[in-house]
Amino acid sequence: NVSALSGVPEWLPDHLQREGIEELYPPQADAVDAGVTEGESLVASVPTASGKTLVAELAMCASVARGGKALYIVPLRALAGEKRAEFEAFEEYGLSVGVSTGNYESDGEWLATCDIIVATSEKVDSLVRNDAPWIDDLSCVVSDEVHLVDDGHRGPTLEVTLAKLRQRNPGLQVVALSATIGNPEILAEWLDAELVDSTWRPIDLKKGVHYGQAIQLEDGEQHELGVRDGEKPTAAIVRDTLDDGGSTLVFVNSRRNAEAAARRLADTVESRLTDEERERLADVAAEIRDVSDTETSEDLASAVERGAAFHHAGLASDHRELVEDAFRERALKVVSATPTLAAGVNTPSRRVVVRDWRRYDGAAGGMKPLSVLEVHQMCGRAGRPGLDPYGEALLLANSHDELDELFDRYIWTEPEPVRSKLAAEPALRTHLLATVASGFASSRSGLLEFLDRTLYATQTDESGRLERVTDDVLDYLVVNDFLDRNGEDLQATSLGHTVSRLYLDPMSAAEIVDGLRAADDRPSALGLFHLASRTPDMYELYLRSGDSEEYTMLAHERETELLGSVPSEFEDRWEDWLSALKTARMLEDWASELDEGEITDRYGIGPGDLRGKVDTAEWLLSAAERLAGELGLEWAPAVREARTRVQHGIQSELIDLAGVRGVGRKRARRLFETGIETRADLRNADKPVVLGALRGRRKTAENVLDNVGRADSSMEGVEPEGSVTVESS
Ligand code: ADP
Repeated sequence: NVSALSGVPEWLPDHLQREGIEELYPPQADAVDAGVTEGESLVASVPTASGKTLVAELAMCASVARGGKALYIVPLRALAGEKRAEFEAFEEYGLSVGVSTGNYESDGEWLATCDIIVATSEKVDSLVRNDAPWIDDLSCVVSDEVHLVDDGHRGPTLEVTLAKLRQRNPGLQVVALSATIGNPEILAEWLDAELVDSTWRPIDLKKGVHYGQAIQLEDGEQHELGVRDGEKPTAAIVRDTLDDGGSTLVFVNSRRNAEAAARRLADTVESRLTDEERERLADVAAEIRDVSDTETSEDLASAVERGAAFHHAGLASDHRELVEDAFRERALKVVSATPTLAAGVNTPSRRVVVRDWRRYDGAAGGMKPLSVLEVHQMCGRAGRPGLDPYGEALLLANSHDELDELFDRYIWTEPEPVRSKLAAEPALRTHLLATVASGFASSRSGLLEFLDRTLYATQTDESGRLERVTDDVLDYLVVNDFLDRNGEDLQATSLGHTVSRLYLDPMSAAEIVDGLRAADDRPSALGLFHLASRTPDMYELYLRSGDSEEYTMLAHERETELLGSVPSEFEDRWEDWLSALKTARMLEDWASELDEGEITDRYGIGPGDLRGKVDTAEWLLSAAERLAGELGLEWAPAVREARTRVQHGIQSELIDLAGVRGVGRKRARRLFETGIETRADLRNADKPVVLGALRGRRKTAENVLDNVGRADSSMEGVEPEGSVTVESS
């Protein structure tokens, strides 16, 4: 019983009871027995929805009550806000909760005043690199979804960050929360932690596969669906669940598919809603529209009105919350979500459908099956404790063979063991430099000692491998002037410090430095976009058929603009170099004010991809500007200009105007066309002209004038000048 909890602050048991938590779930009780409220480190490998968050809360509150400070590491930025919102419930008892995301370089000093801090692993890594003063005050660190140490891209950061935090704070309590994995013992060994390894769930789960007319469950049970002519399997399942008074969570493999599925499944749901539900949903839709007036917001609201919604990391967190609440209340009957957020959707439902079990993988250049672990996490969302007899999670098969394959692959199979990905060179390049630069090691042996604290070292039997890769990477870092080596001793150069603080892959920095040094004339925007695009920090666009010829020609036409030597067509790096040129050309189109839709068509990408590349280019170019300054190269202004152009998607002449808050690329262009070319012009312009250029939107015009520092910004009674389509404000 929660009132018998020891080690926790005295308000906590009452608080839990008010939240409807009377008894600890068995794995939670095991965690308490293992000492999680007394400062013991713990690895909890427990199925989804079995109450891991409460284990973390018990540990954090107990640690804070003993005078400490807790850090909760989330895997995704989108989840940080959600966790903060959960922990804010403790504020009424005097705890303060802060979230740290955003810029890598911000110093995070205000966080020193918080009792509980929520941050992504990248953010924590960066705070450690920048020596945030409160890091030493931590007494408890929670690592959520710690099985992601297995992720090749982000795992090493989490691994190294935990190792650094433990090195800096001996006695630090680490609470690592994991999905059920094949080898939780190794995590416990690595972290010197107690282990709670449980398959207990608050409600039974039956997994199965849908094929043809029937659902086949793992316990042998079969269930006829009666799929109608022309009806998609997912729609049939949603209908069947609805007839039984339940709701369905559908996992698909991309944001776009999530949106399309919600739209389509709403057709199934709409006619089955009661008047009361319709009214409630109309309210939710109105709240969604209030959050923002973007296209996504409108798409979401119109699906919600009809009883369905989508959920992915591209949504505003307010949107996600509204969707989750409405789904929990059972007003929404279907939510289609992407796997990245499977962990974040704390919304049990009668049935879960894993519609897509393959996902596009950029690095592999094609579709890849999801891991057993991921699929089990999604399945784990099925079943509402206390409401359903059991939860049902279904995969969809298109053939009899696929039916068998899905049973073999996902239903009869245990989740994979996790494996450290640290020994890969790109990961080590970044982390070894950072480890030396931030003072965690100052010699080769010190580095190896540090690395000995990682999961990799705990896990590998191949002695010498890490040492070999380390030596290769050290050579690279010394040759490129990021580290000074003096016998055994290692020290970061000033360039090395800058690179580590900028959070750049050293190889990206080396590429940028070489490129800038190779320029004997002021580099053009295309040249700089290309330079940024060929670094390993940029995911390049792929070459499609016909692209090779097109971009080879472009390379010849604009050879003088491209920095450094042009590789020959027979070199290995040619293909990459050409992909980078295609990416650069796309960025140039964007910075030439080409329409977003036209760009996404031309390059065969989604608006989100364009945004992603633009953000990365902006970040890389601001790093390049810093590096140019650091090295005393004269091209910093040219880099800044290219950076500003890509940031706003504008030609040079709009740079002054587009910097005004509320003036994007389109508004800047329209203002410019009326003769308002600078901020000074805007401060003195005739109001009807400004209003005309801003399409009659009075509120917008007033904001813009306020932002540019004009005292009399009121647009009351002003009529827009020029032939404009007037939109309402
Ligand atoms: P996980 O993080 O393991 O996926 P959560 O921590 O999100 O799962 O918990 C799932 C749900 O179970 C939450 O709504 C939580 O409030 C509820 N819950 C957790 N522990 C208990 C408990 N001991 N008794 C009742 N409900 C609980």
